[in-house]
Amino acid sequence: MENNTPDLNELMARIDLGKLGALAGKVDLASILNAASNMNDKQLKQLSRALGVGGSGRQRVLPAADGDYYDYLDTLTDSQVEVAGRVHDFMRAEVMPIMNEYWSRDEFPRDLIGKMRELNLLRSIWNEDGTRKPDATLIEGVVILEACRVDVSTAVFFGVHGGLATASIALGSDEEQKKRWLPDMLDMKKIGAFGLTEPEGGSQVSEGMRTTCRRDGDGWVLNGEKKWIGNSTFSDFTVIWARDEETNEVRGFVVEAGTPGYDVEKIQGKIALRMVENGHITLKDCRVADANRLQAVQGWETVSQVLKLTRAGVAWQGVGCAMGAYELALAYTQTRKQFGKRIGEFQLIQSHLTHMLADVTAMLGMVMRLSHIADEGRMDDAHAALAKVHTAARCREVVARAREVFGGNGILLEHGVAKHFCDTEAIYSYEGTNEINTLVVGRAITGLSAFV
Ligand SMILES: Cc1cc2nc3c(=O)[nH]c(=O)nc-3n(C[C@H](O)[C@H](O)[C@H](O)COP(=O)(O)OP(=O)(O)OC[C@H]3O[C@@H](n4cnc5c(N)ncnc54)[C@H](O)[C@@H]3O)c2cc1C
Repeated sequence: MENNTPDLNELMARIDLGKLGALAGKVDLASILNAASNMNDKQLKQLSRALGVGGSGRQRVLPAADGDYYDYLDTLTDSQVEVAGRVHDFMRAEVMPIMNEYWSRDEFPRDLIGKMRELNLLRSIWNEDGTRKPDATLIEGVVILEACRVDVSTAVFFGVHGGLATASIALGSDEEQKKRWLPDMLDMKKIGAFGLTEPEGGSQVSEGMRTTCRRDGDGWVLNGEKKWIGNSTFSDFTVIWARDEETNEVRGFVVEAGTPGYDVEKIQGKIALRMVENGHITLKDCRVADANRLQAVQGWETVSQVLKLTRAGVAWQGVGCAMGAYELALAYTQTRKQFGKRIGEFQLIQSHLTHMLADVTAMLGMVMRLSHIADEGRMDDAHAALAKVHTAARCREVVARAREVFGGNGILLEHGVAKHFCDTEAIYSYEGTNEINTLVVGRAITGLSAFV
């Protein structure tokens, strides 16, 4: 993909050393260069534009494709920007070169786990005692945004392990269990999965959970099936939610890979998030020690708290996916020529781009505010549900427009946008479908439940 942004080499080549020497006598050049060397990509782009690099004479430099049109991300603190920058660079260096191959192969690149470990992201979000950093939701959000701009599957791997599984253990464990599991999870030395959904229990799993647990001496016996469980084909353990045969209460268990009676089969043939490995789990008289029962779980309420936390992250996924698609589309329209003109010169194409950017900008404002509310401890279920409903729906429209401006190339993986287009379908349906999240919001704003 052609990039219209002048790079650092071009900037350096334009420097006249004679003039630079004269300038050094007038200004503190060392401080200025020091400031420039600390600039992030965005600031460097702005400087390049201000200096007119590559923009003089015959060659006209077109604006860089940047979906953060209102500079929302400039409101982040330095440490938040630093974390976002780490993910931004990682996605381009480590994920971009391999993602299409693994997406095609229906496989998660296991090597990425070690590389992600070095980013040390989870310790920016969670404390070792299972509490969250004061700006955890916002940090998590920008990590997801930067990941999804390039590849949603990578964000989902991270979200299942560092969100759903880690939150289950952080909220459901006693102190001894937190010490046993959380440090290795935060360092990504052990990878977790989250097993809630069942073949017959998707939206209604809270009421219709069929997986059961039965107390048996010093342990528990689990029976049932779980469907769609991300990371479970290679995770070190999976949190399994089951209904107590005796009390009907929902309980959580950490089931380690290789436990007899616990079997995982990879779900094949997905058209979305193909790089995420989703497992179909069968539990057949699977025996788990009581020490692996999450001791602080308060029935369904704990599951609900976990989902509330992670739903905000899924809302950010929609924004990142849409932003990435918009940026690809804009760059394409600046280079692709038809009828002797770049297609970005056509009014109908500009209409698509403007609608996409308006959606992305509004969505980003929404999730930034949602994260602030969450980090202040004021986010309720409906706040998270509203953002999830809205960003998933807008994302669907943005990726469809983005795919459209690529014409036929829009369905080829090599152009990038097709992956965003497909992955959006999963974002739309998990962590509460559009309908279920709509009902959650409807109940909150009317005070009347329309759930059947
Ligand atoms: C890629 C992917 C990854 C996933 N990862 C995980 C994971 O790691 N762990 C996990 O536990 N689960 C996971 N899930 C499961 C996910 O959470 C469920 O798919 C989701 O909750 C919807 O359940 P369902 O697919 O069974 O759809 P259903 O519940 O069968 O819904 C079918 C349709 O009926 C509608 N519907 C249902 N009830 C109502 C109602 N009362 N009123 C109106 N409409 C209704 C739904 O909105 C939907 O349109 C994943 C799913 C996908 C696709």
